[in-house]
Amino acid sequence: MAQERCYDPRDTTLKFVNRKDEITGDDYESLRAEMSCGHAVTPESVKGWCTELLRRKQFIFTCPAEINGMTCGKEWTYHEVFLDRAHRIGPKPSDNQDNGKPRVFIVYFHYYTDKERASRWGAVNRHQLFHQERKIYIFPDYNASTAKRRAAFSNMRRNLRKKEVQFSLRFPALLRIDFGGKNLQFDCPNKAQRWFDDHFLSE
Ligand SMILES: [Zn+2]
Repeated sequence: MAQERCYDPRDTTLKFVNRKDEITGDDYESLRAEMSCGHAVTPESVKGWCTELLRRKQFIFTCPAEINGMTCGKEWTYHEVFLDRAHRIGPKPSDNQDNGKPRVFIVYFHYYTDKERASRWGAVNRHQLFHQERKIYIFPDYNASTAKRRAAFSNMRRNLRKKEVQFSLRFPALLRIDFGGKNLQFDCPNKAQRWFDDHFLSE
């Protein structure tokens, strides 16, 4: 079973309450937080609901609590849903000066496993994620040395794409090639290039 998520009682950025969970109605003993909209939740019910929203390709997390037949619907902050921080890079373009350039958001996940899941999910759904009709791409923000090591494979990746060879670049910088029923792995771009030359340039 996956590790159940619990709140850290020492977390002073959250307000803890003794009420039942207002998303699921559960009232077993558990540390619950009061969200900014005023409703009490457990980490598991937040996770379940946000996962469902993401599955529906919704990126704004709103409270699903039903009170007297009315859905709360208030937007939660990223912090409340276990993102430590989310911020934009660069100025916010106004509607009439939208130059079609992509906007970059950096998101810090509270849990490493969430980051991993988001990256994988982003890769699988790469061409199908939209927010208000604009495409969204999710990719990991590598540190400078990892990014450099990965970038060293760019030529190779272009070559492989041209030859329609299946490959993937694994973390941190391992090129995996599926070729002729074999899995080959290269941690060095030069070795990969030699293999490529042997197979494709001698034709
Ligand atoms: Zn609410």
